[in-house]
Amino acid sequence: MSGAHGTEGAPASALFPTYARFPITLVKGQGSWLWDDRGNRYLDFMSGLAVTNLGHVPAKVKEALVKQLDELWHVSNLFRIPGQEEAARMLTAHSHAGAVFFCNSGAEANEAAIKLARRYHRKVLGNDRYEIITFHQSFHGRTLATLTATGQDKVKDGFDPLPPGFVSVPLHDERALREAVTDRTAAIMLEMVQAEGGVIPVDPAFAQAVARLCEERGLLLIVDEVQTGMGRTGKLFAFQHYGIEPDIFTLAKGLGSGFPVGAMLAKAKLAGAFGPGSHASTFGGTPIAMAAVKATIETMLAENIPQRAAESGAYLMARLREALAGCPAVREVRGLGLLVGIACDRPVADYVAEAHRRGLLVVTAGPNVIRLLPNLLVTREEIDQAVDILAGVLAGQAAAAQT
Ligand SMILES: *Cc1c(COP(=O)(O)O)cnc(C)c1O
Repeated sequence: MSGAHGTEGAPASALFPTYARFPITLVKGQGSWLWDDRGNRYLDFMSGLAVTNLGHVPAKVKEALVKQLDELWHVSNLFRIPGQEEAARMLTAHSHAGAVFFCNSGAEANEAAIKLARRYHRKVLGNDRYEIITFHQSFHGRTLATLTATGQDKVKDGFDPLPPGFVSVPLHDERALREAVTDRTAAIMLEMVQAEGGVIPVDPAFAQAVARLCEERGLLLIVDEVQTGMGRTGKLFAFQHYGIEPDIFTLAKGLGSGFPVGAMLAKAKLAGAFGPGSHASTFGGTPIAMAAVKATIETMLAENIPQRAAESGAYLMARLREALAGCPAVREVRGLGLLVGIACDRPVADYVAEAHRRGLLVVTAGPNVIRLLPNLLVTREEIDQAVDILAGVLAGQAAAAQT
């Protein structure tokens, strides 16, 4: 790896080799920018994969965390935690949800959603429905249940036997979906934009059909907002674009601005399906995590950040469509808000590496899609800079590939 950016000769690691890591060591962040251990500066269009939605080290969240660090770090959930009550009230005041369970990650939030769906059918409705229908190319996490829910074989390789109770059908195939519903079906689980699967926004008519089917057949609708939530798509939650109200939805990535925290939210009628002892997490909803969540939501609302994400996303997609029009590799620019994909007709790993060398951090979404996830306060100038770098990268390599 040559050029201004990049780090060679990493020493042997004592870590499990679970990640194909980029050859860059980031040591400092501020707003839209990151610095590596050699002092190179990068424009961050990954945001830790949709985590740092307010940019790096946002002042108000930092202030809330520092204040909380001086007061109290952790107490058991055997005690009332006022920050949890407050954060839950903020989330339910800005959605149709009536109850919140705090945990630590997206997979855990989805695991809680799966457990709640099964238990609601068993304990509240008094039936034995347990099966969850998910969609091909979806991504729901890495625990045994959530990787089974995930509609991609690569995450399941070597982990069988997988837990029973999951089936997956092609996205946007209403007939296959209807045929998959049986008297075992408990719920349908959906991402409003399949993010890891290639930045594929769900068609509004299909979303309506899913909601209608759930209504007709007494199924719970679970929406995985782990990546799309917290303003990313131009609304606080992506389902709010679609005029549907999922029975259960999950949050994690942007919820604490980088402090690890997840949440499972549900309509009030589902609250009684869990009781003392039915679900728990030692670290779920600690005072520190709740300080991060409250400050994140306060900032999002006070600064109208979802609306800014909608406007910046429209600008980014328009600029990309215009700047990449002549690039033979590019098939489509698509997305919702600031969750944007550049779909190509060939593998994009080399484009991504070249963007990194030119100082722009982007990531793939499947083999052929470049995914852009800037923070939601990204400026027009930063978007212009990113578009210029991408136009250079895609024009250069497209030309090289033709010779
Ligand atoms: C990242 C992601 C998850 C898993 O979240 P973790 O915090 O890594 O467990 C689940 N669902 C979606 C849609 C995601 O993008």
